[in-house]
Amino acid sequence: MRRYRLTSSEKGPVKLFVGGLHGDEGLYTAPILERLTQEGVSAGEVIIVPSLVKNSKYIGVLTEEYYRSEAGMHLLQLIQEYKPSFYFELHAYEKQSHARLTDPERVNKIGVPPFVDFGDGILIGSIAPILRSKFTEHDFCMTIEVPKWSCKREAIKEQVLAILRIGLTNSQREEMMREFRTRYPSQIKKAEKLFYQYYRHRLKPF
Ligand SMILES: [Zn+2]
Repeated sequence: MRRYRLTSSEKGPVKLFVGGLHGDEGLYTAPILERLTQEGVSAGEVIIVPSLVKNSKYIGVLTEEYYRSEAGMHLLQLIQEYKPSFYFELHAYEKQSHARLTDPERVNKIGVPPFVDFGDGILIGSIAPILRSKFTEHDFCMTIEVPKWSCKREAIKEQVLAILRIGLTNSQREEMMREFRTRYPSQIKKAEKLFYQYYRHRLKPF
């Protein structure tokens, strides 16, 4: 597991970006997150793990089992070690899963809200509830699902990076949300609504 630690002399929050949590997803998330390591950090500390596992068994992150697996335990260790206040999780999905991941009935079917398509199949959502409970209510946690079939294309990769850069460059949660709302107004509105419906105002998106 490759781990990058980027620091700034300016005080600021700790941010953790993790990709490739299971199966072969790292093949798709690593090129994007490797690219992110070349960006500057203006404040605080940024930890980037382009691929948590190389090619592992696929265990869904919504299950308890995942957090007992080697990959899941590694992830929990990273969170415990760095205590990030901003956390971004990158996954990759197949074309045929798009409908299932964005299904408006997803919450009734499997108990978690659907993802929102931010454009070109790049999906945004909250993280697994089991994992969200390891963070505080003030922390910011987001999942990004990248399309396996197109994320090797430069234009798509750039779009994912544009989302990640919002996370990378803003030190305050509210500033970050403002930039998300400005750049993706309708998508963020939808994602925030789904978040509030699920967490019933116990947590702020995300
Ligand atoms: Zn995944």
